[in-house]
Parts: sequence; C-alpha cells; structure tokens
Amino acid sequence: MPSKKESNYGIDYLLELNRRHAREFMDLAVERRRYRGEHPTEIAALKCMDGRLNLPVITQTTVGIIQPFRNLGGKFELGWPFFQSILDQWVQYATSRGRHSLVFVTYHYSRGDSHRGCRGFNYDTEAACNTAIKLKQQFDHVYGRGAVIPIVCGIETDLDALILHGEDHNRSVDLAKVNETTQIELDELLRSLYPSVPEIIIRDLMPLVRGNIRHIADIRASNRAIEDAEHKEWVLGVGRGFDWLHAINTAFIVGPFDPNLSLAIETAANLLQGNIDEGRVNPKRGIVLMTSAAYRDAAGPEHHLAKEKATFLSAFALDIIKSRVPNLVPHLQILTGMTDLNTRKFEVLDRQDKVIMGTDESVKAA
Ligand SMILES: [Zn+2]
Repeated sequence: MPSKKESNYGIDYLLELNRRHAREFMDLAVERRRYRGEHPTEIAALKCMDGRLNLPVITQTTVGIIQPFRNLGGKFELGWPFFQSILDQWVQYATSRGRHSLVFVTYHYSRGDSHRGCRGFNYDTEAACNTAIKLKQQFDHVYGRGAVIPIVCGIETDLDALILHGEDHNRSVDLAKVNETTQIELDELLRSLYPSVPEIIIRDLMPLVRGNIRHIADIRASNRAIEDAEHKEWVLGVGRGFDWLHAINTAFIVGPFDPNLSLAIETAANLLQGNIDEGRVNPKRGIVLMTSAAYRDAAGPEHHLAKEKATFLSAFALDIIKSRVPNLVPHLQILTGMTDLNTRKFEVLDRQDKVIMGTDESVKAA
C-alpha cells in the first residue's frame, strides 16, 4: 500500500521540489537585494555533495546569497583547470563590483557517530579537515590575504553546527558550544579567530554565525531524530545549478570540477548502490540519475551550450554507471535538463521513467 512517504520519491517529486524552490527564490529577489545592500561580501562554500550540508538552512540565510560548489568529499584543488576557471570568474565578478569574497572551505562530520560522517573520506574527519586546511593554504597563496578570504569550517551534522577554524589553525570554535552570546562577545570571538580579516568581511560573516547559533537552538528544541541524519540518498546529480536540490538525504551531487569526473561519478553510484544493498532506500520507488547544466543568458549561445553540456554529461554518466556499477542500471530513471541561475527553474530536456511494479516496462516521455 502506498504510504504518504512514497510521494517523496521519483522524478515528479524532484520537479515539484524545483518548482517550489524557484518560486521561493523569485519571491525573495527583493530580500536578496536588500541583504546585498547591507552585506555586500560575495560568499561561496566549497562543500561535500552530501545532501545534509544545506548552508542557507544551517545559517538561516536567504537562498541565493551563498554560492555553493559541491563535490565528492568537498575535495577541490585550485589546480583543477575547470574549477579554477569557474572560481576565478566568481572572484572577478565580485572584484568588478568592488566586493570582497569570502570562501568557506568546509569538511563535515558527526559528533555522535563517526559513521555518520563523510563517506567521501571513509569517515576520517582528520583527513577531511587537513584537506580543507591545504585548500585554504592554496587560496592564501594564490590570492594573498586581501580580496579573497578563505575560512576553514567544519559542519557537524548532528546539530548542524559550524566549527570555525581560526586563520592560524591553532584554534577552532564549535558554535554548538556558544550560546546566549551578546553581540560584543561575538564580535570579540570573530576578531580573535580572524585578526587579519577586514572589518567589512567580519560584519558580513556575523549574520551567518548568529543564524547558525539560532538554528542549533531550533534543532535542539525539535529533538530531531538521529535517523534523519543517516544516508538514504536516491538521486545522483551530475553538473551544476543544484542549490535548489537540498532536501535532506535525497541526492549525491557530483560537480563537473574534478578532472577525474568519471571516478567521482563511479564513487557516487557505488554509494547509491550501497544505500540499496543495505536496505536504506527502496529501489522500487526509483533511483534517479539527474543531470543539470547551469546558464544565465537565455538568449545567446550560453543557453545552447548548456543544453549540449547537459546532454553530454547525462550520456557520459550513464556510460560510466553501465560499465562500472551495472547493478544500479535496472533501477535508474533519467532526468536531464538545465537550471536557469536567474530563477533556479529547471528546464527538462529528457526524461525516462521506469515503472518497476513487478515488470521492467519502460515508459519514455518527452
Ligand atoms: Zn561527505
């Protein structure tokens, strides 16, 4: 018998989730402009593809303020050709508008059980943290301590708490242990963690820190079940423009940044297969391979290029899964499209539903 829970699955659920998010994103356009006027620093977050790491929710910040870059384990290298070019574009954009850039270099873990930590790092939090520190040092080296400020930040997923690492790495502060703090105390805390960071960036970091402290209090008050923090992902997202897809335990996202893209896709596909094998997700409800390319300019070649990219990436990912994780293929549904970064609306290019109800009948729709 279908339960209410089952409606939280499948392509239709994803498309409805996108519609809702796009509506909210557009409704908040005025609020974003107001916020930007008050807090002009451009903020990016480099993070693991894990669906729990929803920074706008965790920091109670309007969607669209924090620019996410997601990849397996939150692993990035400034030497990766595509990643450095897209990141540098983002920095140039900020610079052209006279804004500073703040980059959260993140890793994640769980305080209650290491096996709720990052599978991308085999649950080794120290390794994940050290990788983040190394990446931060790359930023320091490339951009100097000026217009681009990288901050190492742990995300502890039991309480959704941020762990702020000071700029010298000798000290970190768990925001779950900071409560009922006055504005002056919080100012002092951030100043002591980041003595060389410009005042304006501290001022623009402050609302995220306060938001996280409020959010942690909400999580504690709601007594959120730990089960919600276990892996139950059923979507493999490939590409960019997925910041609308942050429903908890829904998707593994593989950005197109890693030169070893095929390995990242294989790893994510194996994680999905693991979720099926260990009984955390029911494959009969549909496992979705979803590809998205992002664009801003709907009129020119950018739109067509995004279409070509999405179509290519989808076929590329499917080929990898067929050859390296073949057991997953019979469970797959395919959704290919493009996300308009101005509206966050997802435009469907191709959709292949597979209805598994004791038969292997395939249904293909436009
Ligand atoms: Zn992870």
